[in-house]
Amino acid sequence: HVALNGDAAHSQQASAESFARVQVIDDQKQFTPDLTHQIQRWGLQNSGFDYDMVAVFGSQSTGKSTLLNRLFGTDFDVMDETRRQQTTKGIWMCRGKGMNVMVMDVEGTDGRERGEDQDFERKSALFSLASSEVLIVNLWEHQVGLYQGANMGLLKTVFEVNLGLFGKKTPDGRNPRTLLLFVIRDHIGTTPLANLQATLTADMQKIWESLSKPPELQDRQLSDYFDLSFAALPHKVLAADKFEFEVQELRKRFMEKTRDDYVFKPAYHKRIPADGVAFYMEGIWEQVQTNKDLDLPTQQELLAQFRCDEISAVALSEFIEQAKPQRRPIESGKVVEGLGSMMRSWRTGALVRYDRDASRYHPGVYKRKRADLIGVLDSTLSPLFFGQLKNLHKSSLVHFKQEMHEGMRGENYNFAEIVQQAKERCETAFEDGAKEAIPVEGEEAIHWGSDEEFNLLREEMGSVADQCRKDETKKMVNIIERNFKRQISEPVDLHLSKPTPDMWDKVLVAFRDTLGKAESAYLAKAKSFNCTETENATALATLRKRAWIALRAKVDEQTADQSFLAKLRTYFEERFRYDEKGVPRVWTPSDDIDGAFSKAKDETLELVPLYSKISPVDDSLSYTLPSEPSDSLASTEDDFDFPSTLTIFSETKALDLNSRFRKDADAFYVEAKRSTVSSVAQ
Ligand code: GDP
Ligand code: MG
Repeated sequence: HVALNGDAAHSQQASAESFARVQVIDDQKQFTPDLTHQIQRWGLQNSGFDYDMVAVFGSQSTGKSTLLNRLFGTDFDVMDETRRQQTTKGIWMCRGKGMNVMVMDVEGTDGRERGEDQDFERKSALFSLASSEVLIVNLWEHQVGLYQGANMGLLKTVFEVNLGLFGKKTPDGRNPRTLLLFVIRDHIGTTPLANLQATLTADMQKIWESLSKPPELQDRQLSDYFDLSFAALPHKVLAADKFEFEVQELRKRFMEKTRDDYVFKPAYHKRIPADGVAFYMEGIWEQVQTNKDLDLPTQQELLAQFRCDEISAVALSEFIEQAKPQRRPIESGKVVEGLGSMMRSWRTGALVRYDRDASRYHPGVYKRKRADLIGVLDSTLSPLFFGQLKNLHKSSLVHFKQEMHEGMRGENYNFAEIVQQAKERCETAFEDGAKEAIPVEGEEAIHWGSDEEFNLLREEMGSVADQCRKDETKKMVNIIERNFKRQISEPVDLHLSKPTPDMWDKVLVAFRDTLGKAESAYLAKAKSFNCTETENATALATLRKRAWIALRAKVDEQTADQSFLAKLRTYFEERFRYDEKGVPRVWTPSDDIDGAFSKAKDETLELVPLYSKISPVDDSLSYTLPSEPSDSLASTEDDFDFPSTLTIFSETKALDLNSRFRKDADAFYVEAKRSTVSSVAQ
């Protein structure tokens, strides 16, 4: 799409992609969509503010392209003398060879009488002036002082529109500033440069004064917007060597930053980052095209909005990609190791990326868009953070339970200590984990609190510990009860097998002693459980009741029908069949069998009321259970009526036992009688 008229060297250069030309504005006055890519291909997109922009202004065929190619090593088309062929109309741009410079060359037509071309000329000049730091004003020596011949009319128009469109202060309060570098061509030398310079300065001053300025810019001076600088070049053909030498000298002013007359002074820079240049220039071209009444600050803000959004979107999408893989594990309840440091690095990465590219744009817009970006970043991180906290909470609780479990495995553990240790370890683990999970550093961290989750965890650990303690207390009471049963069994057997009037006193003394031991065993253990007073009271009440029930069970065993009747029989036999010395009696007819029989029987029957009721001789030994309204350890044993448990045999039962014993006794009597008959018979 490029019509090349240059020589072979030019074509070769053109093929070198990195310094290829781009037609910024084509002959249809369309802005190229390719400028951003071209700037990338030139390797300038990341150069930030470290680049410069230069353009050229001047009549046709005054050697402009020739000059640019010499100064910047570019390959703009140069008019071929022999063919006088026209080059392609438009605004062209090249990168300066070995320099971070974007160079623009305007290619017009010779037929300046045509209105269409005048429009293009004016617009391209305005565009060049508004977008470059240095505008080279190229003219023949003999044009100096000639208003028409030197394009001064055009310059006046351009100044006027430029002031109207772009004359307001930049956002940082500066006037937009441009260097006008006049290059006088074919300088013969008879008129010194200083004189030509004076003439041109006066002309510029006159033009400036004749401008119709916007009301608010009435008192602005030429020097508020422009610096003027001058150079002269000898005739390219007639003084070829000197021409080449002077061009090289002039080139130094574009290259050597330390020179006083270095042209790319910071004040001229438009402060548009290289990656925004294409968009910015397109905006300027649109304004030039439509003469929209927009000023540069607004333009810069629009640019900033556009670019900051773009940069933010890129940073965000990278960030989202990084965050994505961690979503599922968090949602599935996993504690992701090092999540916080990952989140911090994604977040910082996104902001660094954004800052690197966006901070060069309009500061207000940059800051606003940055805050927006932070909002989106944090709202993406927030579910991960809170998910991690929830998972930490859960796993801490699991650990807590495990630790409690392991601690209580042995026999001699201190419950309160185990709870305390497990609690401390789990709280520390949670707090460390929660701290690690905070995706930001410094002051912002206060917005990422974990107190709520932490309090929940503590509450749950508390109730787990409570439940454990209740279970443990229950277990302990059961063990003590078992021991009690074992211990009470023998004394009860012993005392109940020897019916004496103070039999119940002995049983109750044994009961008291054994229960006393059980109670102290409980209290000793309960200390390490940190049980409350009420819990102790309840547990002791349960223990007493169960102890009593155990005692009663043992008594029931001893007083079950068969064993009780056996007791009566033994008691009776001891009195009827044996004499006082324990020798078996041999009955003779003279013996008072009837008397002995009824004596032994009556004595034996006295045992029934003795066993019927637990009633000690010594009243102080009477046992009563304090009435305990609720038994939290075993709520199933309801309706326990203590007084009724004192009764062993009801009256009917006693009568029944009486009559059953009588039958047994009668059998002995008959047997005794028979034995005398048989002894007589012998
Ligand atoms: P442009 O139209 O302003 O870009 O001019 P060109 O660079 O295409 O040059 C137009 C013609 O002027 C070409 O034939 C060049 O060889 C010639 N030319 C270039 N520089 C000079 C110069 O310094 N003096 C003279 N007399 N001719 C020049
Ligand atoms: Mg040219």
